Amino acid sequence: MKKKSPAKTNKKALAKEKKAAAPEAKSAKKSYNVLRGMRDILPREDKYWRTFYRTGQHLADFYQFNKIETPILEEASLFVRSIGKGTDVIEKEMYIFEDRDGTKVCLRPEATASIARAYIGNGMWNNQQPVKLWYWGPMFRHDRPQAGRYREFFQAGFETLGIKDPAADAEIILVAYSFFKDIGLPVVIHINSIGTPAERERYINELVSYYRNKRSYLCEDCRNRISKNPLRLLDCKEESCQKVKESAPQILDWLEEDSKNYFMKVLEYLDELNIPYIPTPSLVRGLDYYTHTVFEIYPAFDDAEPKEVSADKEGEQKPATSDNNSLPAQAALGGGGRYDLLVEELGGKPTPACGVALGLERAVNALRQQAEKNNITVRDIKYEIFFAQLGDDAKRLALKLINELRGTGIQLAFNFFKSSLKAQLELANNLKVPYVVILGQKEVQDHTVIIRDMESGVQEIIDQKKLEATLKKKLSKVNGDK
Ligand code: AMP
Repeated sequence: MKKKSPAKTNKKALAKEKKAAAPEAKSAKKSYNVLRGMRDILPREDKYWRTFYRTGQHLADFYQFNKIETPILEEASLFVRSIGKGTDVIEKEMYIFEDRDGTKVCLRPEATASIARAYIGNGMWNNQQPVKLWYWGPMFRHDRPQAGRYREFFQAGFETLGIKDPAADAEIILVAYSFFKDIGLPVVIHINSIGTPAERERYINELVSYYRNKRSYLCEDCRNRISKNPLRLLDCKEESCQKVKESAPQILDWLEEDSKNYFMKVLEYLDELNIPYIPTPSLVRGLDYYTHTVFEIYPAFDDAEPKEVSADKEGEQKPATSDNNSLPAQAALGGGGRYDLLVEELGGKPTPACGVALGLERAVNALRQQAEKNNITVRDIKYEIFFAQLGDDAKRLALKLINELRGTGIQLAFNFFKSSLKAQLELANNLKVPYVVILGQKEVQDHTVIIRDMESGVQEIIDQKKLEATLKKKLSKVNGDK
């Protein structure tokens, strides 16, 4: 028998080892995608998010809503009890799992129930009423992803607890309307009243008997809704069901005088405030906890004819990325209403309340759509000064001077990783700043800086001590000239 040479054996053994190690190496290099329906909010979108937050905060300060943050993880039954069994959110969309101690927990699908829990748990009924709160944060619904619908999405919301007064409903709608107006989105409010639970029950009986007779014209989902969640019958977008809806009984006809008057007063406030609204009898909202006023906010663009979103089959659609975001006109930008029984339902004292939740991804999409259509560039931070430095000593001193200018209100840009003046002036040019501060070796020694007017190219030498005052003077002239 021929003996294998040791060298050959080693080579073979090595190859074998390599092969055996290969799957491991491969798995070590596995690349990860964002989960379906989730997305990264990239820096290029930050200008929108930043503006939204500032706008929300400004409105909250003005109308005296205090910020509240509740945990993302909550006990699952909180939402089952408040939103209600039979709703899509509870039946199909909750991210629900067992915690290590066996408690059933979930990623919050919305924040109102959490806020009601916090109101009760922190004894806020002892505070002066109403308690006005606002929030901002991610919500989670395991919905079918499509344009403007994600599994993780952000909402900003405003809630007024402890008062039943049409002015409170109107104020909530005003804040929501102003939010969209201030960020540059024209919107219209679709509004309805669903009365008290007793009125609603009588109406539902009527609705169910109407729909039972029309069973054969309905889609399968709607046939199930007749017994499970009849109010949702009015939401169906199927053509055949839409036709049935046209002649369906309307809830307003089932409201007692008090409820009707309440609703009329809310509308009078909106008239007074010049807020555009459309009374929408089929609007009932999906969640069990609403009473009286319910509303949704829609874009009011001139091209807002309803474009149907393709009902993608599971697994077939593109992931919801920031580039796949053309917003269908029927996608609501926000929604809310009155929820007078929720706090009590969750174990608190009777506490009338109302609120709104605003969909922030949809606001980004709508704003971007508007900007593209009208050829508008949505403004990012507007820098006013570029600080350029040349050489090690200048870089060190520049860092100090820049830090001293922080907090003066001057929007300063700089880049320490570019050393040539040409490259830095190019950056300044791209940012369209009117002035550049230049600090070189000579200026470090002389305790001066150069200020260059970017339009005329004229340069001026000034004492470092006068930098802030000189820049402010020059900028106020630029801003005043505009
Ligand atoms: P809702 O709590 O369902 O009334 O939602 C209030 C607002 O949040 C809606 O009008 C949407 O703008 C937004 N929203 C709700 N669900 C989603 C979702 N899955 N993805 C993105 N935005 C959503």
